[in-house]
Amino acid sequence: MTAAELGETAVVGAGPAGAYLAWQLARAGVPVDIYDDSHPREKPCGGVLSAETLAYTPDAATLPSANPLTKVAFQTPYGRRFQVSPPRRSVAVDRAEFDRWLLQKALDAGARHFDERVRGVDLADQRPRVHTRDRTVRYRRICGADGVLSIVAKAAGLRLSESQLGYTMGGWGPVVGDPGTVTVRFGDHIGYAWIINRAQRASIGIGGPMSQRERLQPEFSAFLAEQGIDAAQLKPFRWVIPFSDDPDHLERPRCGGTWLTVGDAAGFCDPLTGEGIFLAIASAHEAAAAIVQGDHLSYEARWRNRLGPNLYFGMRNRNLLASRPMAEHLLRMLRQNPDMGLSFFKLL
Ligand SMILES: Cc1cc2nc3c(=O)[nH]c(=O)nc-3n(C[C@H](O)[C@H](O)[C@H](O)COP(=O)(O)OP(=O)(O)OC[C@H]3O[C@@H](n4cnc5c(N)ncnc54)[C@H](O)[C@@H]3O)c2cc1C
Repeated sequence: MTAAELGETAVVGAGPAGAYLAWQLARAGVPVDIYDDSHPREKPCGGVLSAETLAYTPDAATLPSANPLTKVAFQTPYGRRFQVSPPRRSVAVDRAEFDRWLLQKALDAGARHFDERVRGVDLADQRPRVHTRDRTVRYRRICGADGVLSIVAKAAGLRLSESQLGYTMGGWGPVVGDPGTVTVRFGDHIGYAWIINRAQRASIGIGGPMSQRERLQPEFSAFLAEQGIDAAQLKPFRWVIPFSDDPDHLERPRCGGTWLTVGDAAGFCDPLTGEGIFLAIASAHEAAAAIVQGDHLSYEARWRNRLGPNLYFGMRNRNLLASRPMAEHLLRMLRQNPDMGLSFFKLL
């Protein structure tokens, strides 16, 4: 495509949000170009696909890395340990494999993939533009699916502030213990440490609000020691995540006349659990439906209807977990009733 040509829809980013959006558009006959130069790559992630996520992508449970999760071993802030069996099926996957698989679905349906990094977008014009190193292309609309540090969200005035971000660190290592058991340890901060096994290797990490980032390294070291894991065996990662306790941020629109944002780029991530793949795919689903219907601005009402209540609930209640006694109490309730429906436990 040359600079003189006009495309229909550009999607920036081929993670779960972008690949799913491009797939749904292409299969509905909407011409779509997807830009991402990162594949193949393993995104820092637990890779848990909850039952709600699998409802959108059931075949993902048959990927070679997909590991069925049968138990969650909790450790409470006061050191109590207990296990629950998730009431519904979930799996953990390698993100390199899952993301590539979703992108392939988009390509098979007719989407075009440009293996290029987007360096900038202009959204102000009626014909918004995507700039890469080699080209500038005008589109009818640009969809930002470019993750937590999204340049599309920044151009739309939506970029998350530091207080709306979480920080994660950890590494990939050998499978730990029973392959079907996820380990979740609550400590002295909001957030938790985890071990999530996939078929061949585990994601082992810790996360919390950016403001509590200094506490994470010592807690993580203590967690590894408790679990008998040698830190030197891990291939390290660090990454940021939307992790906001500010419901006012949800008042701002996630689309405008020339643009939409989905997934992490829209700041959608469960404020209690850090679950983001479901929100990425569900928001992409609503965005695709709005575009196919010929009124992409209807995305605003769609995502609010589908995702708004849980996001508001999580943002309003996240800081309950800052209190160790309250976190202890909530976990005790979970132990007594694994089906109680608190947002946290949808992930598992
Ligand atoms: C440590 C950690 C553990 C997590 N564990 C889980 C979990 O177990 N389950 C769960 O549901 N969620 C989890 N999450 C959250 C989940 O990883 C994200 O919410 C999810 O990946 C969001 O998908 P996305 O498609 O919106 O963005 P991403 O997956 O971040 O994809 C964005 C894509 O855009 C591309 N991109 C960025 N900028 C540009 C550009 N300028 N030009 C072109 N391409 C660009 C990137 O290369 C990337 O491929 C975790 C997050 C972290 C950090």
